[in-house]
Parts: sequence; structure tokens; C-alpha cells
Amino acid sequence: MLSAAEFDLATRSARRKGQDIEEVLQSEFQVKLASIGQALGKFFGVPYEPYKGDRIKPMDLLKNLKRDYVEENQWLPIEEGKEGVAILTMDPEQVKSSRIVNNVFPKSKLVFRVTTIQEFKQTLDQFYGAAADYGSVGDLLSGLDEGEEGVSDLTSEDLSAAADNELVKLVNKIIIDAYNQGASDIHIEPRPGKDKTLIRFRKDGSLVNYIEIPSSYRNALVARLKIMCDLDISERRKPQDGKIKFKKFGPIDIELRVATIPSAGGVEDVVMRILAAGEPIPLEKLGVLPKNLERLRSVIEKPYGLFFVCGPTGSGKTTTLHSVLKYLNTTDTKIWTAEDPVEITQKGLRQVQINRKAGLDFATIMRAFLRADPDIIMVGEMRDKETVSIGIEASLTGHLVFATLHTNSAPESITRLLDMGMDPFNFADALLGILAQRLGKRLCGECKEAYTPSSEEMKSLLTEYCEELLNTAPFKKDAKAGYESVYKEWVKNYGDDKGQFKLYRAKGCEKCNGSGYKGRVGLHELMLGTDNAKKLIQEHARVAELVACALEDGMRTLKQDGIEKVLQGITDIKQVRAVCIK
Ligand SMILES: [Zn+2]
Repeated sequence: MLSAAEFDLATRSARRKGQDIEEVLQSEFQVKLASIGQALGKFFGVPYEPYKGDRIKPMDLLKNLKRDYVEENQWLPIEEGKEGVAILTMDPEQVKSSRIVNNVFPKSKLVFRVTTIQEFKQTLDQFYGAAADYGSVGDLLSGLDEGEEGVSDLTSEDLSAAADNELVKLVNKIIIDAYNQGASDIHIEPRPGKDKTLIRFRKDGSLVNYIEIPSSYRNALVARLKIMCDLDISERRKPQDGKIKFKKFGPIDIELRVATIPSAGGVEDVVMRILAAGEPIPLEKLGVLPKNLERLRSVIEKPYGLFFVCGPTGSGKTTTLHSVLKYLNTTDTKIWTAEDPVEITQKGLRQVQINRKAGLDFATIMRAFLRADPDIIMVGEMRDKETVSIGIEASLTGHLVFATLHTNSAPESITRLLDMGMDPFNFADALLGILAQRLGKRLCGECKEAYTPSSEEMKSLLTEYCEELLNTAPFKKDAKAGYESVYKEWVKNYGDDKGQFKLYRAKGCEKCNGSGYKGRVGLHELMLGTDNAKKLIQEHARVAELVACALEDGMRTLKQDGIEKVLQGITDIKQVRAVCIK
């Protein structure tokens, strides 16, 4: 990679500039960090350990080590495996000969890993982090009293530990970190015996490791969370659910929905959903393609009717409905909502929280709304015949009704509702439209890499895009002309002046934890209650017929919407396929 003379040059340049050689090799000689690491590994005869963004912080190894100390001594324990405690350092020879590590971990076997200066610093930051006023999780754990290891029953020690100031701070820190990192859920996964408790966050739809906590804090941690949401701490054999109003305990105003589940080995899992007191997003910022936005506005501006948003859990249905309500929320309109839970609040809306224990279910609240002079009713979820029937009735008596459904596609929702026993004529009359939605991973804006797609790649995108169009009248008449007109439309909307496209691929950087993706993008499939659609509903038509009809009336499927967002460089086809599986 480098001649001896060049290396000599680099050494001198580094000395002259007062930089370390690593920096000079990278900036002046274009040597990659990984190559430096591999060279170091060869030189010291130990494996090279690169920085890993998803590394789990080894809480129990770091427990008695302050940042200043490891920074000064230049070694850091990173994990404990079968072969012993792995020590990360830039100079294994020196650390080995000093024997300090042996004194810190007298009972453990040690293995050494070498790394670069830059990556050592990164790992340090990762473990000790931006501390804020809560200190690092490591500092918090070191303040805890060590309980007895591996005891599974809830002891009085656990209870006093649950009230321990340091543990209280640790739990708060976990929640604050999750919120600040934009996580939607916190998973606490204890394992029996001496195994550590793993904590993971769900971010942008995928779980990522956060920290591991020694088994001795397992019971106290769960007990503390139960105390925060007024659950029975002695009940450890049945699932429980509750809610944490975090404002009472910490500096941020969020709520968490908590579920505890007894799991194998006599432990209890806890999963918490973060219900951020969110603001509605303006309709035009939802990432709906311009043509769909226009179609969407045209139906929600109607004075009465029924409109559904459908998709699986976590596809952003509630967010979209609130954007629609924000658009319609004016002083001359009465809007009632029934939600479980109320996640987004808006001034002007009258929002009701479902409370099944108190007999307040969707059907009961909807009936009450009808007696309370509404213009618009939003219902968090329509799952059964009763709520759908009330919804249809309400829309036919002059109200605008919005609801979510747990169905996959817009046309499929229609057959599902008809199969539920809805009257096809009433339903056809009431239906304004159905919006199916998914959230796909967005390419990281910092590191995504532009490329010019080959003609084969464009052809395969076009084939995929037109799959469902083959059943429509224009394609049946002349498929070749159909393909050509779609391609022409693409060139017009997304091509450059030479008719060339620019796509992007995922690369990975620090900002996106090396994954190449950050944040998410909505994919939409908007089917309108057109005359043709209404006729097919009355005839109880099959899904395939409904799809063909909707496409002819201007609907684009989730997949097609996704492909247009690939052409815009927002995401890639892999992510589109991942969320469009039938
Ligand atoms: Zn990135």
C-alpha cells in the first residue's frame, strides 16, 4: 500500500504538523482507516477491531472504570466472551507489559484487540457518551449497590434497590436516551441465572441493541418500572399493562405505554411504547406524491362520507389521519375523535381516550358522538361489524367519518368489509376513499451514493411497476404503448434533460450507524370511491377487478408509489419490496 520511503515521508510530515500519523496517512496518502487497522493487527499479532456503531456497552466490565482513567491508560474492555475479556487498545504490547489490566480483572482471562486512535476515541464516546446532567449509564451503574447474583425471586433487596436513587436515574436515562434517539419502543429482555438483561430500542422500524445490564439489577429494574406505572410489583406471573406519565419522574413530557410479560426462566420482559406528545404534520409534508395529494384533498373536502386509512401496526395511519384533521380543523367545524391511545393532540379537536375497563369502547363513544352534534368524527380503529355499521350510518346521515383499518391494501379493504356483512349499497354510497400506507426506510441523506442505472435496471423497474397495469384496459389493448407511456411519464417527472435517471444506493456513515438508511418515507395507495368503484362494490366484485378498476381511475399501488420514490432518490427498490410483500 505504501513504500518505506512514503511511510518515512508521512512520519516526518506528521511530526512537523504535530498530527498523529494516522491522520496524515488518511489525508495525504489516502490510506483507509481499515487498512491501518489491519496493518496494526499484523504488526502486533492480534486481531484488528474496527469501530462498531451497534456494539452493546459491556456495563458490568465498565462498572468501576471512569472515562478519565481509561482515556489516560488507553485501553478499554469491550466484551466478555468464551475466550475471556476482550481489551481494546492501540498498543497491546505496552498494555500487556504494564499488567494493570490483570489487576482490574484478576479473575478473567484476557484477550487483546488492536484498533486505530480514531476508532478508540469513537468507542470511548459510544460507551461513555454525551453525558448531560444524568451522567453516563456506566457511571449510574457504578453507583448501584451490587445485589446477589442470579436470584430470581423478588427480594427485599430488590425493592430497596428499586427505590435507590442511582437506579431511578438509570431508568430515567434509558427513557431519555430512547426518546432523544427517536426510538418508538424500548424492549427490556432479562435472561435467567447470571445472564445479563439486554435492552434494545426500536428505531425506524428495526431493533438495535442499546445496553446490557448485569443480572443483579434485573428484578430491581423491572420493579422500578412497575412502580412508575402503578402496577402490582408482587404479581410476577401474569401479564400486566400500564402507563408511565414521565413528566412526574423526568425532564421530558412524554407518556409510555408499558406491557410486562412473564417469560421462561421466571423472569419478566417489559416492552414500552413511547407516546410522544406529538404535533400533527401538515398534509403537504407527509410525502404524498403531488398527484395523490390533489386526489386526497378532493375527497376529504367533501361534506360527508366515509374515509379509511389502512395498513399494519406502525405504518403511520394515525399520523396521516391527524394531518387530514389538521387540514379540516377550522373554527366552524366540530370534530370528535375516539383514540386508543390519544397520541397526537390538536387544539380545536375534542379527543376522547378509549377506556375499556370503564366500558368506554369505540362503539359506545361513536354512539355518544352522534348525539353530540358532530361535523367530523374520527375513530381510531374499526375492527368489528358494529363500529363499521355505525360509521356508515353516521356518514349517510351527513357526517364526515374517518377511521383506520388493519388491512393490507385499499381494494382488499373493500372485500374485507363486505365479507364482514356490510350492506353493499349503503357502503358504496358512503365510501369516499381508502388510503393504504406503509413506511419504508429512507436512504441516509448524508452518505447515499448517486449512480446512473443501467438500461436493464430501468427495464426491470418498469416491468415491476407495470405488473398490475397489465390487467387494465389500456394495457390489454396495447401493452407496448402502455409501457412506453409510463416510461415517458417517468422521463418527464424524474429524468434529466437527456432523459437519464439518477438513482441512489445505501452506503453507510456515522450518522446512520453504518446502515445507509435514516428515517422513513410513507408509501401511499389511494383508491377513490368513484362511480365505477361504487358499481363494483354493489356487485360484490373480486379484489382483482377492484384493483384494475382503481388503476384505471388513477390509483397507484403501494409498489408503484414506492418505485416513484426510488426514481426520486428517496429510497431504494430493496426497501420498497420489503414493505410491499403481499
Ligand atoms: Zn449515512
